[in-house]
Amino acid sequence: MEIQENILLAPYTTFRIGGPARWFMEATSETELAEAVSFAREKNAPLFVLGGGSNLLVSDKGFPGAVVRVANRGIRQDLEGAYSVFTAAAGEDWDDFVSNVVEQDFAGVECMAGIPGTVGGTPVQNVGAYGQEVASTIVAVRALDRTTLKMVDFAAAQCQFGYRRSIFNSTGRDRYIVTEVGYRLKLHGAPRLAYQDLARAFSGWTEGPTLKQASETVRSIRQQKGMLLVEGDPDCRSAGSFFKNPVVSESHLADISARVVKEAHRAGLMLTEPIPHFAADPGSVKLLAGWLIEQAGFPKGFALGAAAVSSRHTLAIVNRGDATAKEILALRDEIRKRVLAQFGICLEQEPVYLGV
Ligand SMILES: Cc1cc2nc3c(=O)[nH]c(=O)nc-3n(C[C@H](O)[C@H](O)[C@H](O)COP(=O)(O)OP(=O)(O)OC[C@H]3O[C@@H](n4cnc5c(N)ncnc54)[C@H](O)[C@@H]3O)c2cc1C
Repeated sequence: MEIQENILLAPYTTFRIGGPARWFMEATSETELAEAVSFAREKNAPLFVLGGGSNLLVSDKGFPGAVVRVANRGIRQDLEGAYSVFTAAAGEDWDDFVSNVVEQDFAGVECMAGIPGTVGGTPVQNVGAYGQEVASTIVAVRALDRTTLKMVDFAAAQCQFGYRRSIFNSTGRDRYIVTEVGYRLKLHGAPRLAYQDLARAFSGWTEGPTLKQASETVRSIRQQKGMLLVEGDPDCRSAGSFFKNPVVSESHLADISARVVKEAHRAGLMLTEPIPHFAADPGSVKLLAGWLIEQAGFPKGFALGAAAVSSRHTLAIVNRGDATAKEILALRDEIRKRVLAQFGICLEQEPVYLGV
């Protein structure tokens, strides 16, 4: 495996931002991943595991350690009656994988069409969209344990999946390198149309859409929102949603509602709509971070230098061309500050930050 030095990371990220990595490697097998871990140990340097760089903001100064890009490939299929388990190598492109299984009429990931990144990135933050998340189909994750250099096989329950959460980005963060993921998908299953925008698109239909029609519709909704990677589209030079949707207690929601009503009253306005929210765990609700951001005074297209709120989606921060990580973080801080002041909610960042 070639070990390169001082490689600019910006081209490896969807933000197109970031300075160089001191060392850079591309591992095409589990053995090469283990070699990368050993190399970083010898150099006494931190090691960062890179997938498609679509949930990542790299510092302008870069990363003084080693970066290993996971680039193993291959997919196998094991039949289980009406289901098949597709085991895909972590380096496979996620969107290509979705297209491939949807084309074969397998259900379970069709609403996650158009999400950039690698297969290996999906269990890390339990990727989800349009009413579906990978936790509902993942049956196994294989990973390299960086501390022992041994392979570990996780069953789904051991992955500790939650909203944008798993063992791989929480208690086991920086310990495991995902090398393979198994998804159990149903042959000729019906597409999941739980999400409002998606259900609406098919509302007049006498027959349910096919999996392919559903996933193409997801792609088209994503494109309208700048959430599909399209060459030359400045609104997709981002890391997708920059903030997680906050989960708060029902009593916190009541406090916020009272605050909003009071503010509106003071401004001489009548509030007719309740604060948009969805049921979460018992006793708590999930709020829409995009709504909070907009209410806090950041309309779509709001810019601070070359960093801006996407002109099509309030939840995405975009690089307008030559933004620095510093500018992205300045806009993040401004948004956080005002949302905290107005709603008493501290927005949690979704993309990983790498560097100093
Ligand atoms: C336009 C756009 C739209 C998006 N829409 C969505 C969406 O709808 N839903 C959603 O959930 N996300 C979305 N995202 C975020 C992103 O695409 C996902 O989080 C994706 O799964 C990240 O995968 P990646 O391979 O690019 O990971 P990277 O960005 O390379 O890495 C992210 C984190 O995962 C770790 N990681 C990556 N690969 C491995 C591995 N093999 N083993 C261990 N750790 C690893 C990295 O170390 C890092 O901590 C979007 C991003 C963009 C740019």
